Amino acid sequence: MREIIKLTPVFKEMIWGGNKLRENLGYDILGDNIGEAWVVSAHDQGDCLIAEGRFAGKTLSWLWDNHRELFGNAKEKEFPLLVKFIDAREDLSIQVHPDDAYAQVHENGARGKTECWYIMDCEEGSDIIVGHRAETREEMKEMIEEGRWEEFLHVRPIHPGDFFQIPPGTVHAIRKGTLLIEIQQNSAITYRIYDYGRMSGGKPRELHIRQALDVVGCPYKEEKTQKQVFREEGYDRTFLVSCPFYTVEKYDVRESFVLLQNQRFMIVNVIEGEGMVDEMPVKKGCCMILPYGYGEARIEGEMSIVTAYI
Ligand code: ZN
Repeated sequence: MREIIKLTPVFKEMIWGGNKLRENLGYDILGDNIGEAWVVSAHDQGDCLIAEGRFAGKTLSWLWDNHRELFGNAKEKEFPLLVKFIDAREDLSIQVHPDDAYAQVHENGARGKTECWYIMDCEEGSDIIVGHRAETREEMKEMIEEGRWEEFLHVRPIHPGDFFQIPPGTVHAIRKGTLLIEIQQNSAITYRIYDYGRMSGGKPRELHIRQALDVVGCPYKEEKTQKQVFREEGYDRTFLVSCPFYTVEKYDVRESFVLLQNQRFMIVNVIEGEGMVDEMPVKKGCCMILPYGYGEARIEGEMSIVTAYI
């Protein structure tokens, strides 16, 4: 069935959120603290509605449960991926995610979380936290308990176009002035290590030091991803990452090209520009799923898209 599944985002107000989801991505939303747009999500904390077509108004989780053939009869109990745009006006808390095995036992059978970030835009001099500097678990415990964050955290400068893969057990935090797209396992299990002493609704947000000390890898081993760019006629294809949970690529289209959807399903996110995906007009911020058996999609217009599949 050659039907594009176009989704309506779920927006999340966050204490650290800003206004770039409106100003930069063009979403018609009010509020100056919108931190996240969950653009492809079947999570119970934000289940996207299908925007048009014969399934308009149904949720993505409903579609997954009732029309698994559109997803190549994938076996996963729940839709396996979650895609978000994130606008950080302030620093996000320092956090870590468990892997599947830990979450299964300690979080009621939930999934762990591997995630990755493509930096769409950031202010001059912005940075991000990926990894830490403790050599041993003992040292890590001391640094965290004594709040020696400058020594502990691995801060890295960032630029638009940078890409980071964040496996479970990696200490990480998005920092102020960053707009990115995140592709992740469909999970919301997060252990917060440090929140800059901020208050939310008159009290500090809960920390999860014990769980974090269980799951943080030590010493930190950097996950090197090799960005590979293939220059093709009419477009560039950039291979970003392939791991057991997802493969992510970016296409910078100059005029047009044919995207082959031969996976169980393929998520397509427009991150820059505007154009057409077959007969459907799309622009920056549009996110959709090409279902099983879709085959060739003609992508037209000067735009950048990020694709993800399992
Ligand atoms: Zn995270």
